[in-house]
Amino acid sequence: MLLEIEDIHVHYGKIEALKGVSLQVDEGEIVTLIGANGAGKSTTLKTISGLRPLTSGRITFDGKDISKVPGHKRVLLGIGQSPEGRGIFPGMTVEENLHMGAYARKGDLTKDMAEVYDLFPRLGERKKQAGGTMSGGEQQMLAIGRALMTKPKVLLLDEPSMGLAPMLIQQIFKIIEEINRRGTTVLVVEQNAQQALSLAHRAYVIETGKVVKSAPAAELLTDPEVRAAYLGGD
Ligand code: ATP
Repeated sequence: MLLEIEDIHVHYGKIEALKGVSLQVDEGEIVTLIGANGAGKSTTLKTISGLRPLTSGRITFDGKDISKVPGHKRVLLGIGQSPEGRGIFPGMTVEENLHMGAYARKGDLTKDMAEVYDLFPRLGERKKQAGGTMSGGEQQMLAIGRALMTKPKVLLLDEPSMGLAPMLIQQIFKIIEEINRRGTTVLVVEQNAQQALSLAHRAYVIETGKVVKSAPAAELLTDPEVRAAYLGGD
């Protein structure tokens, strides 16, 4: 097991956003967490990456209890996150943004940059362009590329399809598949359940802060309840 979350509770002030979420991610998997607006998907990812503190529960990564490890140290352990809303540095160039992803690492970044440009040729064509002037899809690519520069063992992706045209969504999901094929474990949260379930090996469904279902992704694609609630069912 690469990542295990056990019964985590997370609060925003008095609001309990996560009410005992448990999930597991094995090395080499693509796992998706799907759910409606406000169900707790982003909060789950933020808690794994250390941006939100736990009220209770435990997070184990690579055999180590990281529940109390600060976020910047979790990056060094191999947890890379591409946040919702992308969060790139708009005034910095593509190249500088990628460098920022690797700020905590020493050594030669040329090879890692080349790998990101290989995955996202579009970024390679725009190395000197300011991040903030790129299209939504390009910024999404940049955010994922920047997270890859941390050399993560697990890549956490928050709504990679958000705000993108259908063609671009396909493209981004293909690239996520390729990232996984090259050896990175992926945990992706999505409102676009159809795409996420088509991509992932396994899936969890979260409703109002609780996991209500978990199964192989292909199984959930044909699950009547999931179809009705999340796939515009029939
Ligand atoms: P979305 O897709 O809309 O981001 P989500 O499933 O990712 O939804 P979260 O963003 O994790 O959901 O939110 C879970 C719950 O926590 C919601 O009820 C939300 O209103 C609440 N919440 C999230 N962020 C905050 C915050 N900064 N302050 C207070 N409450 C918050």
